[in-house]
Amino acid sequence: MMVSRIIPVEPFDLVVFGGTGDLARRKILPALYRRFRAGQMPKNARVIGVARAAMDDAAYRAFAAAAIAEAGGGEAEPPAEGADFLARLGYVAVDAEAAAGWEALGARLRPGVVRACYFSVAPGLFATLADRLHAHALAGPGTRIVVEKPFGHDLDSARALNATLARHFGEGQIYRIDHYLGKETVQNLMAVRFANILFEPLWNARFVDHVQITVAESVGVAGRGAYYDRAGAMRDMVQNHLMQLLCLIAMEPPHRFEPDAVRDEKLKVIRALDPLLPGEVVRGQYRAGPGSAGYRADAQNPASDTESFIAMRVGISNWRWKGTPFYLRTGKRLRARASEIAIAFREPPHAIFDQQEGWKENVLSIRLQPNEGMNLRVMIKEPGPGGMRLTDVPLDMSFATALGAGGAVIPDAYERLIMDVIRGNQTLFMRGDEVEAAWAWTDPAIALWQAAGDRPLPYDPGSSGPEDALMLMHRDGRRWREIRE
Ligand code: NAD
Repeated sequence: MMVSRIIPVEPFDLVVFGGTGDLARRKILPALYRRFRAGQMPKNARVIGVARAAMDDAAYRAFAAAAIAEAGGGEAEPPAEGADFLARLGYVAVDAEAAAGWEALGARLRPGVVRACYFSVAPGLFATLADRLHAHALAGPGTRIVVEKPFGHDLDSARALNATLARHFGEGQIYRIDHYLGKETVQNLMAVRFANILFEPLWNARFVDHVQITVAESVGVAGRGAYYDRAGAMRDMVQNHLMQLLCLIAMEPPHRFEPDAVRDEKLKVIRALDPLLPGEVVRGQYRAGPGSAGYRADAQNPASDTESFIAMRVGISNWRWKGTPFYLRTGKRLRARASEIAIAFREPPHAIFDQQEGWKENVLSIRLQPNEGMNLRVMIKEPGPGGMRLTDVPLDMSFATALGAGGAVIPDAYERLIMDVIRGNQTLFMRGDEVEAAWAWTDPAIALWQAAGDRPLPYDPGSSGPEDALMLMHRDGRRWREIRE
C-alpha cells in the first residue's frame, strides 16, 4: 500500500463567497474537511463563509457539519476531530452588491497569512466581488482569487471579465477553476505521457489513428435548466472541460512541469484547432422517457433549440497531429455516467500471422469517472495448441486495485485544487489567454449553427445520443466506444 506524503500548507485565511451555496455544501466544505483529516491544514488555518443571509459562526458550523456528513454518505466521524475542524470556520454576512458587511469581514482577516478569496457565487457577481474587495482594501498584491465556472459566455464577455479582474489582480493571483484538471486521472495522463518512454514516441499522427473523448452524464438538466438553456453542451462542457482534456493529450511536452510552461503548450494546441464546420458537429436534445421529462420541459422552454448533447470531429493543424481526428462528445440523460479518453493506435504496418481476424487495435483508455484508472488493450496469442490465433487482453491499471489495500481513496478534484491555491501553484488552473482562445474557437461554430437555423436532433433518454452522432464516426470507418459505467 502506498502511503501518500502530506505536507501541511502555510497558514491561510480562505474566504468562501457563496459559502452557503450548493457548491460550498457539496464540494468545497467537504474537500476542506478531508484535507484537514489528512493533516494538510495547519492549526491556524481559517475558513470564512460569506453570503447574504444573517447567520452566526455557530450556525455556519452546523451548516458545515451537515454538509460534511452528507458528503461522507452519513458515515460517523470521530467527534473530536470534527469539532477541531469546525472551530476553524467562521461566517460573515456580506452582500456582494452593497456596502454593508465588508468592514466586519476585514476585521476577521489576519495579516501575514496566505489570503485566498473563493468566488463561489453566480458568475454575474465575479467582477463585482473583485471591485469590492479592492474598494474595501481587503485584497493586496499577495491575495489570491479563485474564480468558478463559467468564465464568460463568449469571447467578448470573457475578455471583459479578464479585463475587470486585471484591474485589481495580476495574472499570478487569479485561479480560474476547471475542476477536470484536478482529477487524479487527468494528472496521471501527464505522468503517463511524460514520465515513461513507452508512449511519447508513439504519441502522434503516424501511430495514433484517432482519439475519443466522452463525458457522458445520466442526469438531465432539471434544477439548473434556466442556466443551462442559455449555455448548452458546447458552452457548458466543451469550451472548458473537453477542451482542457484535449489540450493535455495533444500538447507538446512542456520543458518543466510548471504553470506557464504547461499553459503555454496548451494554448498552442487551442490555437492550432481547425475551425469546426457544420458537417462535423451533431447536436442533440433528449426526449421525454418513461418517468422522465424531456429537455424542453426540464429547461422550462418549450421552444428551446439548446443542445443537451454534442458530438464533433476536431482536427489539429500542426506537425504532430495533422491527420489524426479527435472525436469529442458530451451530453445529458445518456445511458450511463461515464467519462473517458481513448487513444486508438493504428494497425501494425504488416501482418505476419495467417489468422489476423482476431486483431483489434491497441487502445489506451483513461477513465475519469467512475472507477478512475487506465487500461491498455494489447494483442496476445490465444492460449492453447493449434495455430496462432490472436486475442486482445486488457493491461488493467485501475488505481483502486493498484494503489491501495482495499481500494485507494482518490481525492476529490476540489481537495487538490484548493490546496494548490494555498500553495500558490497555478499549473492546474486556466490562464486568461487560454480561456479566451477557447472561446475564440467556440464562438464561430455556434454562430454557424445559429445562422443556419440548425435545430438539435431528438434522442432517447438512456441512449448514446442521436444516430447522427454514431454516423459521424461510421463514415470515417470508426466507431465510438460504448458508454458504460
Ligand atoms: P448557489 O446559487 O447554490 O449559491 C450561491 C451562493 O452565493 C449562496 O451562498 C448565496 O447566498 C450567495 N449569494 C448570492 N447572492 C449574493 C450576494 N449578492 N452577495 C453575497 N452572496 C451572495 O450556486 P452554486 O451552485 O453554489 O454555484 C456557485 C458558483 O459555482 C457558480 O459560479 C457556479 O456556476 C459554479 N459551479 C457550481 C457547481 C455546482 O455543482 N453547484 C459546479 C461547477 C461550478
